[in-house]
Formats: sequence, C-alpha cells, structure tokens
Amino acid sequence: MSNEMTRVVFLGKPGSGKGTQALSLSNALSIPHLSSGEILRAEIRDGTEFGRAVEEYVLLGEIGPEELITKVILGYIERNGMGDGYILDGFPRTILQARELDGRFPPGRALLLSVPDQAIVERLSRRYTCSGCGSVQQMDGEAPGGKPCPECGGALARRADDHPEAIRRRLETFSREVMPVVHYYEDSGRLIRIDGTGKIPDIEREILALFSS
Ligand code: AMP
Repeated sequence: MSNEMTRVVFLGKPGSGKGTQALSLSNALSIPHLSSGEILRAEIRDGTEFGRAVEEYVLLGEIGPEELITKVILGYIERNGMGDGYILDGFPRTILQARELDGRFPPGRALLLSVPDQAIVERLSRRYTCSGCGSVQQMDGEAPGGKPCPECGGALARRADDHPEAIRRRLETFSREVMPVVHYYEDSGRLIRIDGTGKIPDIEREILALFSS
C-alpha cells in the first residue's frame, strides 16, 4: 500500500464508534493508532504542563488550544516514526489542524462514521472504559453495579466528559468545528462516508474491505 493509503483519519461525533473502529483497523493492518483524546487524558492524569493547559477544555467538551495541540500531535507522529502510516482518531478536529497535517503527513483517506445525535446521546450514557485493557463497553443502568470488564475483568469507569452538558457541547463542537473538516476532505476527494449505526463487526468488515484491493 502506498504511504497515502496507510495514512488514515477517522472522523465522527463522540460515541460514533471511531475509537473502536480505528483500533480494530490498526490491528488488522498493523498500522499504529493514535487517539488525540487519549494523549490529552494521559497528559492530564500525569499533571504535565500540557495536561494542565488542556484539562479545562477536555472536561467541558470543547476544542482545546488548537495550535498547541497540533504541535504536540504532529511531534508525537514524528517522534514515534508514524509519518509513513497512522490511523488517527480525534485529530484533526479543526481546519487549521487538517491543513497542518496535510503540510507534514497528508492522509490519503478520511473515514466519516455517521450516527444521528439521538443514538449518540443514548450510547454515551451507557459508555464505560476499562482501566485494565482500555476497551470501551456499553453497560446497562446508571452504574454497572461494580461489574468487571467482560473482556479482562478490569474495573470499569465513566469518562469525565460523558455527562449530559459535556455531551451536548461536544455535539455542538462537532457541527461547528469538525463538519468543516469533513467538507475539506470531501472537496479534496478523500472522504468516505460509513453508516455507523450498524453492528460493530459489520462496520469493521465494511471498512476493511476498503483496504483490501
Ligand atoms: P475524544 O477522546 O476524541 O472524544 O477527545 C476528548 C476531548 O479532548 C475533546 O472533547 C477535546 O476537548 C479534546 N481534544 C481531543 N482531540 C482534540 C483535537 N484534535 N483538538 C482539540 N481538542 C481535542
């Protein structure tokens, strides 16, 4: 596969399944996966200067300082030798970020997972992340009742920004900031739309088929 085909961007609302699908494509193609949200959350947990600069934005569900985040993510791609191949999840989120990425490591494809807002709110209210294996689980009920992760037995926790106010803001942010990025990739003939409402394995197959020729 040419470099451009191994540089892939996932776009979608919070809870559209882009994290899950990005990870599974990364495993299937052995191309490294990078989630900007995960990098930001790790920096916040570690209390770094960068973490402190972005913490408030992440909790509120808003776009953080875009130039600083761009610098950090592009630096991460470079340092980790991901310039020839990456599966990006959560970056770019603004036109500035998309242009900067094109200037350094242009993606060949941008995959948009489409899911209506109503389904997103419902999914996010049942979303838990495993502190052990990092997998995302859909659990019924307000609290999973101390149930362990069905995959590894680790402890499940809600994400700090999966509360109704932040979910509303993140959906607004998607329309305001990320939709122009969707159009940016569409105008340059790189956008592929995927229906994100189906079953995870079916969507996985549909995405993998795009890379099999
Ligand atoms: P995510 O895990 O992709 O849902 O990202 C969680 C939060 O991190 C977002 O709501 C933003 O506050 C912040 N964030 C993640 N990626 C970016 C980015 N590329 N630019 C600005 N803020 C970001």
